[in-house]
Amino acid sequence: MPVRPAIGERRLRSVARRESAAAGPGSRALVVDVIRSSGPISRVELVKVTGLTQPTISNIVRRLIDDGVVRETGATVATGGKPRTMLVINSRSAYGVGIHVGADALTCVVTDTRGGTIGRELVAAHPDHRPESVVDRLAALFRDVTGGLGLQPQSVAGLAVVGPGPVDVARGRLLMPPGLDGWAGLDLGPALTAALGVPVLVDSDAAAAAVGEFWGRQVSRERTFGCLYMNSGIGSGVVLDGALHRGASSNAGKIGHVSVVRDGERCRCGGRGCLELYAAPSVLVERARATPGLADRLAIRPDDPDARAFDVLSRAAIYGDPQARALLDESALLLADGAVTLANIWDLDTLVLAGPGFAVAGSLYVSEIRNRLAERAFSRDVHAVQVDLSSNPRDAAAIGGAALVLQGSVAPGHGPEVTAPR
Ligand SMILES: [Zn+2]
Repeated sequence: MPVRPAIGERRLRSVARRESAAAGPGSRALVVDVIRSSGPISRVELVKVTGLTQPTISNIVRRLIDDGVVRETGATVATGGKPRTMLVINSRSAYGVGIHVGADALTCVVTDTRGGTIGRELVAAHPDHRPESVVDRLAALFRDVTGGLGLQPQSVAGLAVVGPGPVDVARGRLLMPPGLDGWAGLDLGPALTAALGVPVLVDSDAAAAAVGEFWGRQVSRERTFGCLYMNSGIGSGVVLDGALHRGASSNAGKIGHVSVVRDGERCRCGGRGCLELYAAPSVLVERARATPGLADRLAIRPDDPDARAFDVLSRAAIYGDPQARALLDESALLLADGAVTLANIWDLDTLVLAGPGFAVAGSLYVSEIRNRLAERAFSRDVHAVQVDLSSNPRDAAAIGGAALVLQGSVAPGHGPEVTAPR
C-alpha cells in the first residue's frame, strides 16, 4: 500500500495549537474527528496532528477500538522505521436516524458512522394531523425504516427530528413549522424518547444540514465551514473547530431573516423585509402563478404544492425559459448577497448549498454565489471561498439529523449530548 501523503505541516500545527492540552473531555472527540477526516491514519500521525502525547493517543485509540468506533485496517505502512498500523472509523459501529419535517413530506434516513445513507423513506406529512397523532406517525416511520433494515435497537445511536426554525432544542420543539400548524409547540423530543426508548434530538434543518455536510464530506475541523440551506425558508449553519456554532439558543445563522428591504413586507418572524420574503421558493412560485400565462405554459397546477411547483419552475429556468429564468436569477442575486454576508461575518473557507430548493437549479445558484464571493467577499485577496453544491440537496437535512446524533454519540464533546433515556 502506498504511503499516504502526510497532512500538511501547517494544518498539523493549527490543530495542535487549538487543542494541545493533555487528555481532556474534548480529546476523544478530537481524535475521532481527525480519524474521520484524515483516516486511514496511524497513531504516530495522530500524535503529530492532535498535539496529544503518545500514551494519551494509545489510551484513547484503545478505548475507541474497544467501543467499536474505530478499527485497524490491517494494512501497515512502513516509512523507513517500524510498520504503522492504520486506523479508520468503523462505519458499522452505530447508526443515526434523521427525520426531516417538510411542509408536505417527512423524509427519514438512516446513515452509518461515516455518513453513508443505508436506508430512506419518504411519506406525506399530512399537515392537518392532530397533535397526538404526529408523535405516533414519527415513531411509526422510525420503526418502519430501522425495522426494515433489520437494525438491532442497541446499534441505533438515536433519532434527530429536524425542521424549519425557530427551534426550542431544550424542550424538543419546532416552534413555527410553516404549513404545519398542528405541529407547532409539540414537545416532540420527550414524547418520542418515551415512545421509542432511544435518545431523540430536535433541531433546525439548516443546522443539521451543516453538520451532515461537514461530517459526510470528511471536512477537516480546521476549516471554517458554512452551509446555506433553502427549503420553504432560508437558513444557514456554521461549523467551527468541528462543532456547530449554536448561539444562545441553537437559533444561530438565520440569514433568511436578515432584513434586505427596510420597512418591507411583514415576515412570519415578526420582522420586516426579510431576505426569504423575496428569494424563497414559495415566493418565486407565487410570482410565477401571478405572471400571466406562465403557470399554464409550465403546467403548474393550482393545487400543486409549492415544492413541486418550484421544481417545475427551476427545471424551466435551467432549460432556458426566459420568464422562469428571470425569477430564479433574481433569487440567486439575493442569495449571493446573503452568501457574502455569511462569508464576511465568519470568514468562511467553504460554503455548501443544500436543501430541496437547490435540488434542480442548484448549479445556477452556485455559479452566481461563486462569482459574487470572488468579486465582493471581504477576504478575497487573502483566500477564495470554496462554493459547492450538496451531493444530495433534498435529503441533506435528514442526513444531517443522523449526523448530529452520530457526532454526539461517537465524538461526544462537540456535538449535542446524546445519552440513553433513563
Ligand atoms: Zn423574517
